[in-house]
Parts: sequence; C-alpha cells; structure tokens
Amino acid sequence: MACIFCKIIAGEIPAHKVYQDDAVVAFLDISQTTKGHTLIVPRRHVKTVYDLSAKEASQIFGVVPELANALRRAFSPIGLNVLNNNERPLQSVDHVHVHMIPRYEDDRLKIGMPDHHDALRTQDYEDIKQKILDALS
Ligand code: AMP
Ligand code: ZN
Repeated sequence: MACIFCKIIAGEIPAHKVYQDDAVVAFLDISQTTKGHTLIVPRRHVKTVYDLSAKEASQIFGVVPELANALRRAFSPIGLNVLNNNERPLQSVDHVHVHMIPRYEDDRLKIGMPDHHDALRTQDYEDIKQKILDALS
C-alpha cells in the first residue's frame, strides 16, 4: 500500500487523529499551515472528488460542521477556510481530502479569488451556464 493517508488510516504510520467513524477519519495536517489545520478523509482510497460517490461525499462533508465548531471553540479563529484540491499540480496526496484551515489575524495565508465580473456580459454568464447544463445532462 503506497498511499500515505491509507497508512495513517490503517495505523501503520503515526498521525494525530481527532475524529473517526466507520467511513471517515480526520487528523492534523503535518504542515499546520495555521494552528488546527485538519484533514478529513474517507477510509476508502478514493483519489479525487471526481471518483467519490454521493454517499461518500456526504459522509466526508457531514463531519465539517462538527469539526468547524470544535476548531472555533478550541482556537477562536477569525474565520475558517474549507478547501479541497483535486489533481496535480493542485493535489499532492492522491487520496481525496478536505482541508479545514482556521484563519487568524496576520496568518499571512493568501487564498486569492480574482473578481472578473467587470469583464463579463450577461451573455458570457449564459454561455457558461449552458455549458454546465449540457455537461450535467
Ligand atoms: P494537497 O496538496 O491538497 O494534496 O494536501 C496534502 C496535505 O497532506 C498537505 O497539506 C500535507 O501537509 C499533508 N500531509 C502530507 N503527509 C502528511 C502526513 N504524514 N500526515 C499529515 N498530513 C500530511
Ligand atoms: Zn489512500
């Protein structure tokens, strides 16, 4: 078994686990990008969100509110980012995971979201919408 998160789930390598149930495990991210940075993973080895069943997705995201509230009680952050990276170069561990990243004043973490709305017309939004609707059907 090559996957590092599968090894953590199986207890073959150490991790600081904060939550476990039949389907999901959560443990501290080794990088601690910010204090309390936690990963939520399915027990089953699934590479990306593209491969998740709806049930697995609901099991993973079902843990988010409880963990979010625990992180807020524990560390009193000013906010929280819930983040998921899929495929390289965004994703570095090929076992799907949700990052829970408490945010603090002066944490120097930048998650930028450029605003392009000034450059778009209503028709552009319609075209984008139609492409998604076509892909969904
Ligand atoms: P991503 O880039 O979204 O795939 O994130 C992978 C995350 O896994 C990174 O934030 C790493 O710090 C974290 N990570 C890698 N190895 C370990 C480990 N052994 N224990 C805990 N977290 C890890
Ligand atoms: Zn795995």
